[in-house]
Amino acid sequence: MSFSVSILATGSELLDGRVVDTNSNYVAQILSELGLKLRRVLVVDDDESELLIGLRQLMDVSDIVITSGGLGPTTDDLTRDIVSKFFGVGLYEEPAGRRHLEEFYAKRGRLMDESNLKQALLPVGSTMIPNELGTAPGFSMSNAGGPVVCSLSGVPREFKKMFNDSVLPLIKARATGVTELRRVNFKTFGVPESVVGKIVQSCDVPSEVTVSYRAAFPEVHVVLKYPAGFAIEDVAARVRKNLGLDVVFSEDAKASFSSAVQDLLLKEGATVATAESCTGGMIGATITSLPGSSAVYKGSVVSYSNSIKERILSVPSDILASHGAVSAEVVTIMARRVRELMGTTYGIAVSGVAGPDGGTSEKPVGTFFVAVSGPTGEWSLRCLYPGERHIVRNYATYVSLDLLRRQLSGLQLPESYPILASVRDL
Ligand code: ATP
Ligand code: MG
Repeated sequence: MSFSVSILATGSELLDGRVVDTNSNYVAQILSELGLKLRRVLVVDDDESELLIGLRQLMDVSDIVITSGGLGPTTDDLTRDIVSKFFGVGLYEEPAGRRHLEEFYAKRGRLMDESNLKQALLPVGSTMIPNELGTAPGFSMSNAGGPVVCSLSGVPREFKKMFNDSVLPLIKARATGVTELRRVNFKTFGVPESVVGKIVQSCDVPSEVTVSYRAAFPEVHVVLKYPAGFAIEDVAARVRKNLGLDVVFSEDAKASFSSAVQDLLLKEGATVATAESCTGGMIGATITSLPGSSAVYKGSVVSYSNSIKERILSVPSDILASHGAVSAEVVTIMARRVRELMGTTYGIAVSGVAGPDGGTSEKPVGTFFVAVSGPTGEWSLRCLYPGERHIVRNYATYVSLDLLRRQLSGLQLPESYPILASVRDL
């Protein structure tokens, strides 16, 4: 049986939906980078018998059990008592824990209530795990040769620091024979997950490489995990080539879609302005969510009504009347005019029917038109992405930015979004 780590997360707030158990997710991600997987995650109430049953269950099947939460000073903080009970020992006041508490309060000029000293109590025979970011120290404990329990604070930033500083080294030392995994990331937009899957399947990925997919609407991320030392270059090159630059917007795990677009604008020394109807400013908000966006973004005309399209963006009333606000003609003029108005390299525009009302048989809910006007020409495209209002608006925001990304990268205008499988001869 391979080395196994489990988590016992405690807190009624995790069971009644108030708080999401991000601590377990964090550990799962770190372990996965090491080529390990959590054995079990158990979430229990702040209740003595639940905690004890949970701890016994996990200690039976794990080499390391990490507990999260329940180290505070209140009566529902039961972890130290439960671990003591499990090992059949009492509690003692750890001098370093007491000093930490006294200094923690003194530094902040606050008086420490006596009840806080409960946090310096640790099971006899345990080793303190310092908590530099908070009050309650944690601890680790085991019987000779047996599984180790590591009790950490539940506060996410404290939990992470304690895990990284004190538990991770223990896992690395004990989990011998585990091969560290490396990753290549492909972040895609524009092709459905099933099609991305088919394309990757056609790349003859060898068995040493694990492929995983994550749909982070409307993006699809592909991760190739491989053991350190494996020559990944050929496989990565095949996947890169078959997916193609027109759907892979980044290979950087930390990059966002808008940061990929911003990087391209910066590289070209180009600027952009937006004219938004159905997205109501979402494209501008997406671009400006990044630090440094002032170097590439000039501004937006949120031309939600026809009168603003006419008065501010000079869309002729007869074009609005004959083609409708949701049309290729109108978005093209919007993109061209906002570019002129703001003196930018590029202008992008969108107009659509986000729903739930306002659809017609000719232009059903989910229909939107996007346009980009730039130094190499003007593009416009009709799209249909039926769905709830926020989904249509989100998708339209992505498509608008993707058209800009394509012009910046010298790529073609696709025939449609989502880009269909047939286009790729699968
Ligand atoms: P404290 O000293 O603050 O009482 P604690 O170690 O006793 O810390 P808890 O009381 O269980 O921890 O939780 C402290 C805070 O951390 C709460 O806001 C709680 O919602 C949050 N929290 C607890 N467990 C988790 C978890 N698994 N994932 C994310 N947040 C959590
Ligand atoms: Mg608590």
